[in-house]
Amino acid sequence: MGIIVQKYGGTSVGNPERIMNVANRIIATKEKGNSVITVVSAMGDSTDELLALANAITKNPSHREMDMLLATGEQVSIALLSMAIKEKGYEVVSLTGAQAGIYTDNTHKKAKITRIDNRRLKKEIDAGKIIIVAGFQGKTESGEITTLGRGGSDTTAVALAAAIKADVCEIYTDVDGVYTSDPRLVLDAKKLPFVSYDEMLELASLGALVLQTRAVEYAKQHNVKVCVRSSFNNNEGTIVEEGSVMEKIRLVSGVAHDLDVAKITIYGVPDNPGIAGNIFRGLADNAINVDMIVQSNPRGSINDISFTGHNEDKDKAMEIIDKLTPQIGSEGVKVRGNLAKISIVGAGMQSNPGVAASMFEALAKAGINIELISTSEIKISCILELEKAKIAVQVIHDKFKLSEIED
Ligand code: ADP
Ligand code: ASP
Ligand code: MG
Repeated sequence: MGIIVQKYGGTSVGNPERIMNVANRIIATKEKGNSVITVVSAMGDSTDELLALANAITKNPSHREMDMLLATGEQVSIALLSMAIKEKGYEVVSLTGAQAGIYTDNTHKKAKITRIDNRRLKKEIDAGKIIIVAGFQGKTESGEITTLGRGGSDTTAVALAAAIKADVCEIYTDVDGVYTSDPRLVLDAKKLPFVSYDEMLELASLGALVLQTRAVEYAKQHNVKVCVRSSFNNNEGTIVEEGSVMEKIRLVSGVAHDLDVAKITIYGVPDNPGIAGNIFRGLADNAINVDMIVQSNPRGSINDISFTGHNEDKDKAMEIIDKLTPQIGSEGVKVRGNLAKISIVGAGMQSNPGVAASMFEALAKAGINIELISTSEIKISCILELEKAKIAVQVIHDKFKLSEIED
């Protein structure tokens, strides 16, 4: 008996039959004596369909109107799921993000939750009702509807779990848990029984979209225990929790991939203070997200600076660099799209030399060239050609014997 927050993703509520299945799961949890708050995403691909609709009207939609549009997807699923539960004879109420007391900042399309007023949630729990909340959305202090970025329903669920001190936040999706790599790409990927917040944060931000990065950050900050499970079976999932309570520290826990990478290299950049600041301020002011940055050793009084970002931003980034060139006095610039970032993540690599060497050897043996490398305490990332990405993930997965990882 306790308070349980459950979140069901788009595929899990993709059609009326699946909505009925989710209703049964919620009712079973309620029947065990728990209070249940359920967060749902928009049905199937309906968020993508809404985006396509907007795109057919304008190439440059206002961010406010985009949020107004996208938030409707989740409203469809909360209403239908509540009807399904009511149909089965249970007391239930559906709430939009705003009605659930979720407040955000003003950054339309990728708003951050600033606070949760839990009074309505508490009132409905006290009345014994099942609560169904629209994921991915909130409102600003002035009442504007916002959305939390793609995959944001995960964050809604974790934030509500923190706000009502739930015992656990269960994320139900279309795979059985967090795997050593995307199970759709690596057929012998293995489900991890547990993963630390820090490892999950790296995995999510490096491309393992099974949890939104912001949701993991929120869970870590508020110490929310998260369990990732399938909505289609009763298999045990993956627990995401503080590393100190995990039984074992693994050398490598997983291989993540990001298939949307472009690299820009600026050649012959004068080796003077302030130049890098100029370049990256210019990019930041134009809302271009930069990921890796590598500066070469100076050759005399010049060096080269390479950075990576999203493919879709590369033309804009080139425009900005071209404009800055006379000011920074660089010799030239080169762009390469269609690259991938393949990363390994593992808390154990901090204290074990040779992990990077093993990763690079695996790639070399497969004849794959590395364009850029970056590391942190618990991750190593390599940029390489997009068309080599799938084989790269597999050979690295094999090298660290991740399909044999212990349960
Ligand atoms: P939902 O709609 O339920 O939020 P998502 O599509 O956002 O589901 O996330 C689940 C998907 O994440 C899986 O179908 C899987 O292909 C992908 N994925 C990527 N990396 C991993 C991983 N390491 N472990 C599990 N799933 C992963
Ligand atoms: N429906 C939103 C999306 O597709 C939010 C979510 O699914 O978490 O990104
Ligand atoms: Mg998701």
